[in-house]
Amino acid sequence: MSKYDYLIVGAGLFGSVFAREAKERGKSCLVIEKRNHTGGNIYCEDIEGIHVHKYGPHIFHTDIQKVWEYVGRFVKFNHFIYSPVANYKGELYNLPFNMNTFNKMWGVVTPEEAKAKIAEQIKQEGITEPKNLEEQAISLVGRDIYEKLIKGYTQKQWGRECKDLPAFIIKRLPVRFIYDNNYFNHPYQGIPIGGYNVLIDKLLEGTEVLTDTDYLSDKGKWDAMAERVIYTGPIDAYFGYSKGHLAYRSLRFETEVLDMENFQGCAGMNYTDRETPWTRITEHKHFEFGTQEKTVISKEYSIEWSPGQEPYYPVNDEKNQQLYEVYKEMALQEEKVFFGGRLAEYKYYDMDKVIAAALELAGKNLG
Ligand code: FAD
Ligand code: UDP
Repeated sequence: MSKYDYLIVGAGLFGSVFAREAKERGKSCLVIEKRNHTGGNIYCEDIEGIHVHKYGPHIFHTDIQKVWEYVGRFVKFNHFIYSPVANYKGELYNLPFNMNTFNKMWGVVTPEEAKAKIAEQIKQEGITEPKNLEEQAISLVGRDIYEKLIKGYTQKQWGRECKDLPAFIIKRLPVRFIYDNNYFNHPYQGIPIGGYNVLIDKLLEGTEVLTDTDYLSDKGKWDAMAERVIYTGPIDAYFGYSKGHLAYRSLRFETEVLDMENFQGCAGMNYTDRETPWTRITEHKHFEFGTQEKTVISKEYSIEWSPGQEPYYPVNDEKNQQLYEVYKEMALQEEKVFFGGRLAEYKYYDMDKVIAAALELAGKNLG
């Protein structure tokens, strides 16, 4: 007889939601986490009384009513709306692409004028069926915006030319013909009051958690402790990379405490030119309308990933997707182990979708 019903590997959002659901259904769980803290990539570090998003800026947004109600059980959200500003060589433009952007770029005032300007630029390019990110971007917003706000940023972010990137990456950014700088289209948005750690702590309340504990370094021992395993780490690592490494894009953050109250006047500023080495600067206090005397900023650099580095963005190109499918087949043979979350499913997953997926797995598994 095993000691626990479930061993949960990884104390990120997926593992924490599953742990909560299991506990509520009377199951015994042990959560083990490799890092020295819980929360996975939504973890915040407290610096100068400011919640610093250690693994990159996180804004909760969703259109899934059930998920919004679910998180609302554990934490209240503030009224933060993400409205990043693009900085192109000192010229500032509102994001996402909307009437404020078009007005600044071309002086157009009405939606009709903006649409005509974009139509004229598309016509000059002669693109009918966009085949890559460059063509897709130009067909959505025209060449001027592509050159100033998309080209340099995207090349820095992905380390590849826009012509060599799939069109879908740019499609998730809204293009609006109204004056509206809200980066997301979802009806629900905000930052947990008190920071993301409050949400994670509430989800894990009453569950045994061991940090600084790597499952794979003693897999046999941990497997023997539970009837079932929920694994949220990288799928290729689980199988000892036996079929090869799945590729990622990685990030590096340079975080500084500044002896001033307000550095850039917004939470996110994207540097869209090619020359500035960082992609964006996050000023963390603005997520929570902070009034602290000092401020904390993080310059974000996008870097090529190599084994051993922190995996951030899966590179879902054909080659890697095929490799993932091989591992997925292998995962299906593991009878007592269930794979979930952004690393185990090799998927770009927003937080709300991760919660929905964890609730679904819990529903199937726990009844
Ligand atoms: P993780 O948070 O990665 O958790 C997995 C955990 O498993 C980690 O803590 C890891 O240490 C642990 N682990 C791995 N291997 C082992 C092992 N062998 N033993 C023990 N533990 C192990 N989403 C949004 O909705 N809004 C945003 O604004 C947003 N911004 C983002 C910005 C960036 C830069 C990135 C990269 C992602 C962003 N996301 C955002 C996505 C969000 O981070 C994810 O949806 C979420 O964190 C995924 O949770 P998870 O539990 O699947 O994975
Ligand atoms: N993008 C851009 N300029 C910007 C912001 C985004 O060109 O100022 C492009 C870039 O290619 C990026 C994509 O739009 O990869 C999606 O943007 P999003 O903010 O969703 O990127 P994330 O950081 O969440 O991957």
